[in-house]
Amino acid sequence: EVSLRYVPGIGAVNGGAVLLCFTDVTEREQAGQMRRDFVANVSHELRTPLTALMGFIETLRGAARDDPAARDRFLAIMEGEASRMNRLVGDLLSLNRVESAERVRPKEKLDLTAHLTSTLKSMQPLAEAGNVALSLEAPDEPVHVTGDSDQLQQVFTNLIENAIKYGGDQVRVVLTPMERDPALRAPAARIQVIDNGPGIDPVHLPRLTERFYRADSHRSRELGGTGLGLAIVKHIINRHRGRLRVESDLGAGASFTVILPQ
Ligand code: ADP
Repeated sequence: EVSLRYVPGIGAVNGGAVLLCFTDVTEREQAGQMRRDFVANVSHELRTPLTALMGFIETLRGAARDDPAARDRFLAIMEGEASRMNRLVGDLLSLNRVESAERVRPKEKLDLTAHLTSTLKSMQPLAEAGNVALSLEAPDEPVHVTGDSDQLQQVFTNLIENAIKYGGDQVRVVLTPMERDPALRAPAARIQVIDNGPGIDPVHLPRLTERFYRADSHRSRELGGTGLGLAIVKHIINRHRGRLRVESDLGAGASFTVILPQ
């Protein structure tokens, strides 16, 4: 829906003809609203750990001053809150970088088989710590795509990290070369990250890649999530002219599919 507003003062009388200038205000107002929502969200996300930090500083100055055990416990909590803020700022900067590069298509040729093998290797310790079996199913031969190696590593790291964090005890990463993807109408590579965890209620799926949107807010915060991981993933995939599909149901695990043009 588009609403038009007459901008007074721009209209001009020229040789008897009247020029009327209209601007599309809906789009501008929507962008303004989105920016305000974003600033409100960021402020809220930063204020929560800040308030906790200020509370603990006060306690350390007062009641816990002469209690070394309490002091150590509070300092550990404060460290956790500070690193939550650090993660949030890191993700905000990543999002910013990714958004500003979105118009420029990456040019690097890379082999996804090797790329995913090394990403999974670096994530094995996290999987082992969570008692999760992490595996890669990929063809023996290279699967090439044109992409940005660091950004794609961020995509797969975020998806695999989520699968380990929210999933069950099994995460499978499956790479399949496709002669032609019907939507992209081009040769492509399909990468699926599949877990056997509790899954996501389908009502959340359409909004999952929005900034700060969480399907289970309590669990995300408990696990140190910033709510920005999938927004970053979406922007990187857009930059690669690829697609992201999420399939899930409660109790049925979750499957995130990335399609990248070759
Ligand atoms: P967060 O930092 O909260 O993990 P993300 O943007 O990475 O933020 O993910 C958004 C939300 O999607 C998460 O809060 C979580 O509720 C849900 N989610 C993502 N991946 C999974 C998964 N594999 N299983 C269940 N829920 C998931």
